Amino acid sequence: CKAVITYNQGVRGGRTIELKATVDEAVKNCPSIKHVFVAQRTDNKVQMGDRDIPLEEEMSKADSICAPESMDSEDTLFMLYTSGSTGKPKGIIHSQAGYLLYAALTHKYVFDYQQGDVFGCVADIGWITGHSYVVYGPLCNGATSVLFESTPVYPDPGRYWEVVQRLKINQFYGAPTAIRLLLNYGEEWVKKYDRSSLKVLGSVGEPINKEAWQWFYQVVGEGRCTLVDTWWQTETGGICIAPRPSEERAEIVPAMAMRPFFGIVPVLMDENGEVIEGNDVSGALCIAQPWPGMARTIHGDHQRFIDAYFKAYPGYYFTGDGAYRSQKGYYQITGRMDDVINISGHRLGTAEIEDAMADHPEVPETAVVGYPHKIKGEGAFAFIVLKEQTACVDHIKEELKTIVASKIAKYAVPDHILVVKRLPKTRSGKIMRRLLRKVVTEQSSNMGDVTTLDDPSVVKEILDAYQKYKEKSSS
Ligand code: AMP
Repeated sequence: CKAVITYNQGVRGGRTIELKATVDEAVKNCPSIKHVFVAQRTDNKVQMGDRDIPLEEEMSKADSICAPESMDSEDTLFMLYTSGSTGKPKGIIHSQAGYLLYAALTHKYVFDYQQGDVFGCVADIGWITGHSYVVYGPLCNGATSVLFESTPVYPDPGRYWEVVQRLKINQFYGAPTAIRLLLNYGEEWVKKYDRSSLKVLGSVGEPINKEAWQWFYQVVGEGRCTLVDTWWQTETGGICIAPRPSEERAEIVPAMAMRPFFGIVPVLMDENGEVIEGNDVSGALCIAQPWPGMARTIHGDHQRFIDAYFKAYPGYYFTGDGAYRSQKGYYQITGRMDDVINISGHRLGTAEIEDAMADHPEVPETAVVGYPHKIKGEGAFAFIVLKEQTACVDHIKEELKTIVASKIAKYAVPDHILVVKRLPKTRSGKIMRRLLRKVVTEQSSNMGDVTTLDDPSVVKEILDAYQKYKEKSSS
């Protein structure tokens, strides 16, 4: 990478974000960067160095016509980092032609996009959803695409619907975490605005619970808009399972992704790697044949790409998700099968949070697990072991939070940090996160098989610590 394009400062939800300063820090570790183009988002001045170039000034010198560059269909289009079950995120590579075709087709058919429609995907543009459904899909179809950089509650919880009214949005695509947040504020914030332009509503990024689905459908969509729960991943490039397209007026089951898109062949696998036939069954969700939008490799490590996605079930792409196929043959995603959690639609390996916290000199061991969170979908719960008895536990917890926020992001900061004497480990030294998940989801009466634990008395020790922590937090 030779150039970075950034803002002087970012703005979001009434806050100013020092974007240029963050880029300055990052660029210190990237000797290949020759230029940083800085656009003016706010009027404030920021420090400009030798490699920094004011973007608007540079643009004004350039011709307004620029001949497009011809690319090979398999040339790299972009790379997006995403989380897996290890501490090291993967640079997922998408290619030119297949990705673009797939983004455009899914945009057209899943959302029933018609020429002249205004398409509003409120996802972060830096996320795969923003790539496929703010930029590539809509623009390839010649759509008007809305760019949203705020939060759903700024300046008030009517923000989305004010934008829908003002811009006459026809398709509105967002995340369940925002819907769950907004439904706490009451219907008047929605009803205040005219939503008659809306035809299709979409949900993406994590499972949508029935309550959020009904609110989105009934309150926002007035029971007259099609609501599509769309399942896909950074690696799939575009939507793979969604209620539409389908036969006209075919049923939509609330909170279900339901039907595979053209060319997608989902299969469910059992523990022995056999395809599960029939309906009313659950298993590991795989895709049986390639499709145009699929990722091509992991940056710098093609073997890792093969190992992560094609090894578990030879001949199939393994999604990492579990799914249920209903009596009627519809698909419902049941969640990740690995140590990956989903916080407010952000996919995160628990190992990444553990790796970040490992930087703290007083904290030799950590284990992070997900737990159900009312608004965020899932939250992170961290168990930590301290080096020695120390009086400044609260201070260490604050430092850990700061480390996670700066090394990963604020959303990754654990909601709970519990100090334990030791972690539950097998005789071969592997942390049994499954047990920790049982503790934080309060299913300790059913711990399952603990015979492989090095010392089973650790379970009671951790349960006691958890109980004390809970009592202290509620008092
Ligand atoms: P990402 O690559 O960051 O978009 O994350 C993809 C992961 O998000 C999937 O593997 C699922 O675990 C989850 N996901 C995305 N969309 C849905 C959905 N509609 N229902 C359930 N889970 C979803």
